Amino acid sequence: MRPSILFPLFAETRTLGGVGPKLEKLIAKVAGPRIVDLIFDLPVGLIDRSYRPTLINAESGRIATVTVNVLDHIAPRDRRQPYRIRCSDDTAMIELIYFHAHADYLNRTLPVGSKRVISGKIERYKDKLQMPHPDHVLAPEEVGELPLHEPVYALTDGLPAKPMVKAVRASLAKVPTLPEWDDPAFLKTRNWSGFDVALRTAHTPVSDHDLQPETPIRQRLAYDELLANQLALLLIRRQMRGVKKGRSLKGDGRLKAKVVAALPFALTDGQLHALGEIEADMAAPQRMLRLLQGDVGAGKTIVAFLALLGAVEAGTQGALMAPTDILSRQHMATLEPLANAAGIRIALLTGRERIGRDQTLAALASGEIDILVGTHALFSEDVAFADMGLAVVDEQHRFGVHQRMQLQGKGGRPADVLVMTATPIPRTLALTVYGDMDVSRLTGRPPGRKPVDTRVLSAERLDEVIEHLRKAIARGARAYWVCPLVEESEKIDLAAAEERAEMLKRVLGPKVGLMHGRMKGPERDAEMAKFKSGDTSILVATTVIEVGVDVPEATIMVVEHAERFGLAQLHQLRGRVGRGADKSSCLLIYHGALGETAKARLKTMRETDDGFVIAEEDLRLRGAGELLGTRQSGMPLFRLADLAAHADLLAVARDDAQLVLAHDPELQSPRGEALRTLLYLFGRDEAVRYLRAG
Ligand code: ADP
Ligand code: MG
Repeated sequence: MRPSILFPLFAETRTLGGVGPKLEKLIAKVAGPRIVDLIFDLPVGLIDRSYRPTLINAESGRIATVTVNVLDHIAPRDRRQPYRIRCSDDTAMIELIYFHAHADYLNRTLPVGSKRVISGKIERYKDKLQMPHPDHVLAPEEVGELPLHEPVYALTDGLPAKPMVKAVRASLAKVPTLPEWDDPAFLKTRNWSGFDVALRTAHTPVSDHDLQPETPIRQRLAYDELLANQLALLLIRRQMRGVKKGRSLKGDGRLKAKVVAALPFALTDGQLHALGEIEADMAAPQRMLRLLQGDVGAGKTIVAFLALLGAVEAGTQGALMAPTDILSRQHMATLEPLANAAGIRIALLTGRERIGRDQTLAALASGEIDILVGTHALFSEDVAFADMGLAVVDEQHRFGVHQRMQLQGKGGRPADVLVMTATPIPRTLALTVYGDMDVSRLTGRPPGRKPVDTRVLSAERLDEVIEHLRKAIARGARAYWVCPLVEESEKIDLAAAEERAEMLKRVLGPKVGLMHGRMKGPERDAEMAKFKSGDTSILVATTVIEVGVDVPEATIMVVEHAERFGLAQLHQLRGRVGRGADKSSCLLIYHGALGETAKARLKTMRETDDGFVIAEEDLRLRGAGELLGTRQSGMPLFRLADLAAHADLLAVARDDAQLVLAHDPELQSPRGEALRTLLYLFGRDEAVRYLRAG
């Protein structure tokens, strides 16, 4: 249970004075629904009010604080005109400008003849000084209340700065002094202050320097967030490994030998190395929790299959789970001949198998089926294995830690788990996402692959692209055409894709297919089959083709609005071509003018096809928050830590968490107790459940 000292921080923001239902909604949009979300919403800028010129010297465009006398009010004749208040100091005049003003209010705060301190942005309009909507208006005796420096927070449409600042300030007032969870000696060497002090200081920057991630204040906060992350992952790992004892799965190699002999190619060194690591881990008495990271097309599938054969050789069953129907069918198509060569039984189970489902389930329960391929339907209640030894999960980034937790062994005994991802993750991030697993990297590629010729083009050259397509198709080529990704709206995605398909049909003829996320499984499969067989030569698609689809004949990938995609996504898309014998190309089309970052990102795509390099670049250019599109990635969102800047702290937090758990496995020492509070503070309640009650 969450400790009571944290209750005030987990109250909803509407419990703060001045935050009503409307403001609450807006705050939820930028920060979150609770007070703790507000205190973790660090300022992105600051306003310096220390500039106090006389009016005659005031530079326009700057935030200035001036002392003036109010001369007169000029009420507008109609609502579209602003309300103006003329003021002066001894040197010049200035007009305060208010749109949609309430005269009563202005007469009260700025009565004619009074002296006022006003602060806001000075502008010069036709030789006259103006200040539209001053941020502060104070009587001279109140001037002490004027903050010299004000934090600036990220805002959203309809959310004004002032109430946001106020809400954060009110939230900070609720921050209790929490027990210290960091090691005092460590704090000392780092020169870090206590958590609450650090938090308050972070919200009261007095210079741009204070906003930088490397200040001790921001480092301390980042560290705590990372420590909570690492501690939680280690606890999850311990739970998954330790609840039930694992077992040693050692194959004798007889099935493996048959399959390797049947393969039309030799395994690469990278594949042999990864397989070696996996087999050693399976043979160990502990439960395996391993991630196989490898670029698109690196050849993970066969590695996984050989590992599964090892489990079968050891007398158990295996499962291979893919995130979509298409992918599980594709795996089935690839693996069935290999299973036949080995003389074992393989079967497919997705949510769509109605006919034969009962037989499949019965054969699975009796142990007749050796390997079951499917979607997460594999883990529904009624699916029981006789004895599952190894579960392989493909394309992991679609599943989060929580789904991983569900991979407990069916039939009582804990299965080894191998997770595969085709999204190379920077080393620093890997630890935050997969800190509960051991990692194997499958580097290098199967031989014979030609690099994909990548070009970056403006949408103004769409005609040329279409001409290029026309010629290529005439030669029998096949092309994907991916349409803009509009995060918020699947509907708009779809409309854009439909329109593009229509347009391409008009100019290139009828062999244009369309595939999108709203199609039902069978429809999608049908589209895919048409493309595979060559009935259609262009497949217009929303990003549903992103994951794992394999059509070796496809040699052209066109991506519209490439600037809106993450690099990792572009890399995935590009990985759909260059799979066959023919030379492939990838055309990245951008719309409008490109910013510096967007330019740098697309340049990276042109220059390298190493997914690990691309991932590091993406992290550097965009920051972790946006990497992979957080919504679908299962990637934790850090609010205080910035992984591009705080990578070194992550390693320290990892060591710290390991050390703590080695000495105090159930977090029962005073520091351990404090660390429990830390876990709750960062919403890692689940991890605390794996501890003995304190
Ligand atoms: P991914 O890692 O993206 O899942 P796949 O396992 O689908 O990659 O492999 C991509 C392609 O490479 C497949 O067509 C597969 O048959 C082929 N392949 C895998 N290993 C090798 C190898 N050692 N030599 C040649 N081709 C290989
Ligand atoms: Mg794959």
